[in-house]
Amino acid sequence: MDSRFTHSIPTLGFFSPIHLHIIKLCSNGKSENERKNGDEERISKYSYVSPLCMSGGDGYNSYSTNSLLQRRVLSKAKPVLVKNTKELMINLNFPTYIKVADLGCSSGQNTFLAMSEIINTINVLCQQRNQNPPEIDCCLNDLPNNDFNTTFKFIQFFNEKNITSKESYFVSGVPGSFYSRLFPRRSLHFVHSSYGLHWLSKVPEGLEKSKMSVYITNSSPLSTYKAYLNQFQRDFATFLQLRSEEMVSNGRMVLTFIGRNTIDNPLHRDCCHFWTLLSKSLRDLVVEGLVSASKVDSFYIPFYDPNEKEIKEMVQKEGSFEIRDLETHGYDLGHCNQDESKRSKSGQNEANYIRAVSEPLLVAHFGDAITNILFNKFACHVSQHASCRNKTTVSIVVSLTKKKLSSCPKV
Ligand code: SAH
Repeated sequence: MDSRFTHSIPTLGFFSPIHLHIIKLCSNGKSENERKNGDEERISKYSYVSPLCMSGGDGYNSYSTNSLLQRRVLSKAKPVLVKNTKELMINLNFPTYIKVADLGCSSGQNTFLAMSEIINTINVLCQQRNQNPPEIDCCLNDLPNNDFNTTFKFIQFFNEKNITSKESYFVSGVPGSFYSRLFPRRSLHFVHSSYGLHWLSKVPEGLEKSKMSVYITNSSPLSTYKAYLNQFQRDFATFLQLRSEEMVSNGRMVLTFIGRNTIDNPLHRDCCHFWTLLSKSLRDLVVEGLVSASKVDSFYIPFYDPNEKEIKEMVQKEGSFEIRDLETHGYDLGHCNQDESKRSKSGQNEANYIRAVSEPLLVAHFGDAITNILFNKFACHVSQHASCRNKTTVSIVVSLTKKKLSSCPKV
């Protein structure tokens, strides 16, 4: 059985009272129900890549300091988030209690940007419609290795963003993989997840030797694409099925992925794709004798960038959710159209972004001696590609409604 304990944080001036609930899992990370239901195999198969997490803390190389790109993505998805929050409230007839989850919240303040948007939208709508605002449960989920402490330090910032909130909201941390059950059945009203679902639960099986590419490239065999797509389909179907168990009918999800805009050639990634540049940087280190070729050959990123069609097909095939919105936005690293003098700075910025999301994975495989030099190489490669256009990488935002129980597949 889940045991919870609650820390009360003193009310700060006129701001709402906040309580932190830390959910303690059973020793194997599963709820009693899951074990009773014989879900052992499914859950253990869909865990997570253990070294995967963003760089913690709030220092120079941390995710918290280097996630401006993800913040820009959140602001582009804001209209879809606001629209779906309003529709949820109206369709559920202004409930007195709402449970919201941010899945893959990471460390730092980004999660609070999304949560603030949801809370403020609810409160403004309630004022406009002369309704009592609900109590809002804000559950922040990420993998157990995530630096939740750094996230919780930004709670003050969250208070300040929610100055329109008259009622209580409650913040809790939920450590665990979103490819496993995280919440009780039919308890969630709204799920948000930004830039988390392109991370796979594991490196696909059956990949051919990589020839020193950490991900799909134009020269990969088709079987590599098929293996990655297959793993994405399994993971995303699992995610949808588990959320459908946890969500109420008519609940909403807003999910944002790193995706690609190519339909015809599934292997095509532009020359300045971040994983292509990481592969190039690793090859530089092989040439300089700092890393062995076989070490690079055995390293793959547990990541997949789907296109709109692949996302749509999976939602339809799994069957528990209906698509409301599906939008594609440019992947904006903030250095388009920059002149020569700013290129080296933007190369460094992109190197910092990619380092903050991949350093723990790289260190687990290569050790920590190469990271500085690796990302110096990476920054140079980015600068050399600064004038490239026609990028294949995009952000895809999809919003979904949980179908009524009778129209869902049996779970
Ligand atoms: N949503 C945040 C963080 C994006 S980074 C933002 O917009 O800034 C992606 C996050 O997803 C990372 O913190 C990573 O640890 C988390 N993540 C990846 N796979 C996960 C999984 N299986 N379960 C839970 N979190 C996961």
